[in-house]
This record gives sequence, structure tokens and C-alpha cells, in this order.
Amino acid sequence: AKAGGRSTICFFDPAMQAALLVRVKLEADLRQALENHQWQLYYQPQVDCVGHFTGVEALLRWQHPERGMVSPGEFIPLLESTGLINEVGEWVIDAACRQLALWATKPQLRELTISVNISPLQFRDSDFLGRLQQIFVRTKAPLERLKLEVTETLFVEARDAARDKILSLKAQGVRFSLDDFGTGYSSLAYLAQLPLDQLKIDQSFVQQVLDSSANAAIVESTIALAKSLHLDVIAEGVETENQKAWLLAHGCHAFQGYLFGRPMPVGEIEAALLAQCS
Ligand code: C2E
Ligand code: CA
Ligand code: CA
Ligand code: CA
Repeated sequence: AKAGGRSTICFFDPAMQAALLVRVKLEADLRQALENHQWQLYYQPQVDCVGHFTGVEALLRWQHPERGMVSPGEFIPLLESTGLINEVGEWVIDAACRQLALWATKPQLRELTISVNISPLQFRDSDFLGRLQQIFVRTKAPLERLKLEVTETLFVEARDAARDKILSLKAQGVRFSLDDFGTGYSSLAYLAQLPLDQLKIDQSFVQQVLDSSANAAIVESTIALAKSLHLDVIAEGVETENQKAWLLAHGCHAFQGYLFGRPMPVGEIEAALLAQCS
């Protein structure tokens, strides 16, 4: 509410007012976090059919001074509604690129890819390509190892503009994965027109493949679709050996999920990766 004057808004619902106060506090904290470097990237392994690490997904964590680790489910929407997503998203890409440049100097780690989540708002920003270019020049990251995860919402509006941006990044070696596939507005027709590299089967389907024949059918047709469009396919949220076995039997050969490793700080992921090499 604005201070003073006749534009003061009155809240008659105490619960609503309390919720708003929490949100206002969180937003102020988010601005602080930008200045105080409270962000951290965790990395979750992605594996091939024999369990070898092929890459990682970078997942943002916020180390809040009082609340501890805050989950992105809570703050990403707020970053988006305040526009702070551009700045934080830029930090994420920069951090991932610095990590890639560092891994490029280590023989056992140089082949790994890093997948970075990109909010549709961030991707649509007119400065997005320019910001990325600066990061690429500054970090000298091997761009063939960088994968950007976008969601179907990106293509609901301004599809051609999104397509052009993807093409210009792909010309530099960057690859694209369609995250949360099956949960959005996808029409199959548009998929064929998009220059993507990978479909990522959403965890909500993966976790039900053995319990729901409807979900199993969705996963099967997603795998078939990926094949016929010459896209890679990866399943996320794989938690059990049975889920993995089912996916493998149905032609999905890349996995991510707690079964193979949780998201972890960079030191831990490096130790796990190096242990596997030796
Ligand atoms: P997402 O991109 O779908 O990421 C997968 C989420 O599933 C992650 O949650 C991950 O920790 C969790 N997960 C991985 N394996 C399993 C599993 O086997 N079982 C279960 N139950 N969960 C699993 P997290 O890290 O809390 O991130 C939540 C969402 O926040 C992400 O969903 C993504 O949409 C968003 N996010 C995270 N980091 C970023 C970022 O840097 N930028 C943007 N724009 N969004 C981000
Ligand atoms: Ca993702
Ligand atoms: Ca996902
Ligand atoms: Ca998700």
C-alpha cells in the first residue's frame, strides 16, 4: 500500500494482509540477496544408460540469512513478477559458463555439459542475446557444452522471435532442451518447427509410469515423438530402479533423478564425477 494520502488501500482480510507482508519482505530480501551474493548453484547429475555422468543441470539455491536454503519454487515466481529474474538469470548463466571454462581445463571433466534453466521472461527480454554475448566473451566457456532449458510457454507468443534467438545461439554451439515436456500447451505441430535438441520428459509422468497406464502411454509417445523428430530424450525425476528399467525398455537412454544423485554443491559434484572416472 502507498504511504498516506487518499490512495491508501485498506485490507479487510487479515490473512490476505499477512500474506502480502510476507511477500513484501521476501521481495526486499531478494533485492538484498543480489547485492550480498546469497545465490549458489547446485548441480544434479545426468547419466547415460550405463550410469555414467554426461552432464549436470544447474539449479539455483538461495542461502537466506534467517531462513536457510530457500527453494526456487518459492522465489522464481517472485523474481519473475518483479523483473529481477533478468539480473539473477544473468548471474546463473555467468556462473555456469565460468564452471564450464574451469572444467574445460580438467581432462576428466571437460566433456560434461551444463544445462541452465531459462525463464521465458528472461529469454524474451530484448537484451538477452547481448547479455549472453558479453558472458560468452568474458568467460570463454566452451559453448558446445552449454545447454539451455526452455519451457513450452516460451512458444505460446512471439514464436518466430524465440525461434530466431534459438537459431542465433545454436550457430555458436549452444544446445536447447524443452523442459517439463507434456505439462504445457504443446501442440505437436509447432515442435517440428523448433530447432530444439532435446525433450525432457517431466517428472510427473516419469514417477507414474508404473502406476498409471495413461502416463505410461504419454511417456511412450513422447519417446517416439523425440525419435521421429531426431531429438534426444531425457527423463527427469527418476527415483527408482523400476522406473529406470521401464524407461530403458521403452527407448529412453538418458536420466536424471534422485536415483543417480540429488542436486549438490560444486565440490560434491566434482568429487562424485572424479570418483567415477578413477
Ligand atoms: P525443473 O527445471 O523442472 O528442475 C527439476 C526439479 O526437480 C528440481 O527442483 C530438482 O531438485 C527436482 N528433482 C530432481 N530429481 C528429482 C527426483 O528424482 N524426484 C523429485 N521429487 N524431484 C527431483 P528445484 O531445484 O527445487 O527447482 C525447482 C524449479 O525451479 C526448477 O524445476 C526450475 O523450473 C526452477 N529453477 C531452478 N533453478 C532455476 C534457475 O536458475 N533459473 C530459472 N529460471 N528457474 C530455475
Ligand atoms: Ca529444468
Ligand atoms: Ca523439469
Ligand atoms: Ca518442473
